[in-house]
Amino acid sequence: MKLLEEKIRSEGRISEGGVLKVDSFLNHQLDVEFLNEMGKEFKRLFSDVEITKILTIEASGIAIASIAAQYFGNVPVVFAKKTESKNLDADTYDSDVFSFTKGKTYKIKVSKKYMNKGDKVLILDDFLANGFATLGMIDIVKKAEAEVAGVGIVIEKSFQSGGKILRELGVNLHSLARIEFDEKNQIIFNEND
Ligand code: 5GP
Repeated sequence: MKLLEEKIRSEGRISEGGVLKVDSFLNHQLDVEFLNEMGKEFKRLFSDVEITKILTIEASGIAIASIAAQYFGNVPVVFAKKTESKNLDADTYDSDVFSFTKGKTYKIKVSKKYMNKGDKVLILDDFLANGFATLGMIDIVKKAEAEVAGVGIVIEKSFQSGGKILRELGVNLHSLARIEFDEKNQIIFNEND
């Protein structure tokens, strides 16, 4: 998505350990108008698949998933919870996820009420690095005997293994931007959908 590439070029900052910071529009401050454009683009990319639910992971996935949902007929958005909470039902589907940015493993949980057998689920997330977050969500969808209709990612870091793993698994994956860093730590954009 050209608009996203321009946005990353002008506002993205590379920080230590191969982490791209896009706090100005996606991970801290939210550019709602721009999120809308990305929501429309996800709809264009997944226009040929039936979606009954969108699944993401707290916290940064929630904004893009909610805005995108409006273009998929206002399907419900479910976000996997990372933190233990008294508010969460006891009966959950769980999966373990290793966090690239935090360097530790945590559990994600979705109440069995909100992920049902037969759901056709679009998984959306802000970043794809080694694929652990997405694989954790896929695991939860499968545990619920629902179906992964697609995976949509805002920024795929194509020098990490997540994209390759998911494509090899036959997942219907679309990323709005695919990036890597050159030897001068400048962002290079790879071809995307
Ligand atoms: P994965 O599970 O694919 O290894 O990593 C994806 C998750 O880690 C995303 O949900 C995102 O929160 C975080 N992440 C991975 N790489 C980056 C990055 O370069 N920048 C930011 N802001 N988050 C990242």
